[in-house]
Amino acid sequence: MERFARIGEAAKALGVSITTLRRWETEGRLCAEHTAGGRRRYDLAKLRPEWFHAADRAIRRAIACACVSSHDQKDDLERQKQLLELYCARQGGTFEGCGGNRPRRIGKSASNLSRQVSLSLKEGNVARLEDCRERCKIPVPVMASARQIRLGVDLGGTKIEVLVLEGEEREIARRRIPTPTGSYEAILDAVRRLVTEVEEELGLAPLPVGVASPGALMEPTGLVKNSNTVVLCGRPLRTDLEQLLARPVRIANDANCFALSEAADGAGKGDSVVFGVILGTGVGGGLVIEGKIVPGINGIAGEWGHNSLPWPSPGELPGPECYCGKRGCIETFLSGPGLALDHARASGERWRPEEIVRGAENGDPACEATLRRYEDRLARGLAHVVNLIDPGTIVLGGGLSKIARLYRRVPHLWNQWIFSDRVATKLVAPRHGDSSGVRGAARLWETPISPPPSLRNFGKSE
Ligand SMILES: [Zn+2]
Repeated sequence: MERFARIGEAAKALGVSITTLRRWETEGRLCAEHTAGGRRRYDLAKLRPEWFHAADRAIRRAIACACVSSHDQKDDLERQKQLLELYCARQGGTFEGCGGNRPRRIGKSASNLSRQVSLSLKEGNVARLEDCRERCKIPVPVMASARQIRLGVDLGGTKIEVLVLEGEEREIARRRIPTPTGSYEAILDAVRRLVTEVEEELGLAPLPVGVASPGALMEPTGLVKNSNTVVLCGRPLRTDLEQLLARPVRIANDANCFALSEAADGAGKGDSVVFGVILGTGVGGGLVIEGKIVPGINGIAGEWGHNSLPWPSPGELPGPECYCGKRGCIETFLSGPGLALDHARASGERWRPEEIVRGAENGDPACEATLRRYEDRLARGLAHVVNLIDPGTIVLGGGLSKIARLYRRVPHLWNQWIFSDRVATKLVAPRHGDSSGVRGAARLWETPISPPPSLRNFGKSE
């Protein structure tokens, strides 16, 4: 059989109907490849039936209800919800929280919920929590202990980094290795080894794991799309890591993790709307509102690098070709390779971005002109962001965020394109530099909270 199969063959390989396979594709659970002639084909190497059965388990939903009796027990409520979520994830289901204070006031919704649960119990669709507890043999992750520890993994194109965060700020372990090339399985195995090594070193396991991944993540399985680490594309990364690490794993786009870290305790701390920008080999963005990542329904919120460069001059049209298939995307001008290409086009010199910056510092007029064009384009691109979401802070990350003059010059330039007589948005350098991605990944497990003593053994094997 050919490796790239038609839909009928692919459905047969998975043991499902063509309709089910089409539905999975619409839900983003698998991706078709396209032949040179534009026909859809399914890569049999990526259609391992066990992944899709795991995905089916992952969309089983759990109904959980947590309740406290007054407003000032908000922390208790959060603690209960977090434990219930961990518990449900370990059973292979997804959690939909439901909690409130003063049960009498939420009387109507509470009685609806209880009716729904009784009905489902009668129909045999729901297992009682007590039954689940007996079957649960995996210990509660260490986050639910007094030490409040969580582990982040940054899955970069060139390196994989692991960091363990204690409490809000303190780093207690860090490891970094080059990303294995060529195979998805090798990347999964490298993550497993790093996590195991760090846990053994600290004598703490299992830690709650958050992962920053390139590309957009589609739930319910964490299926990766648009990733520049192409072996991840079309793979259910979250469910695979959960299986491999035997625990719930949270996963988010790397630019979102960067923005989350900088919004929480970095350069955007204290602002309710923070936009994080990555200016590196590619251009990406992530949006955090009120301390929470906004991923978007298509998983692409903040993907600003593939908008076209706004207010272009005739010389900027139609713009360089982009790998996404369009021309003149912001990324083709504002990424590191984009900056180098622009300089080569104008001066005939093939210089790296850091050489261009040094040249400008030493008074080279061609380098100075290249950086001025870059600043003007960055100001136009960010003016679009401000007009759309009006953030309090924009934090720059990635290699080009080290160009100090950007923070001085761009806010002077962007006023002319922002639709406001006064612009209060701050443009700032990242506080945590290269570590923001991995710190944000650890922070995917929200504020760590210790459970009260009565809940400490919840779900543990007897
Ligand atoms: Zn593009």
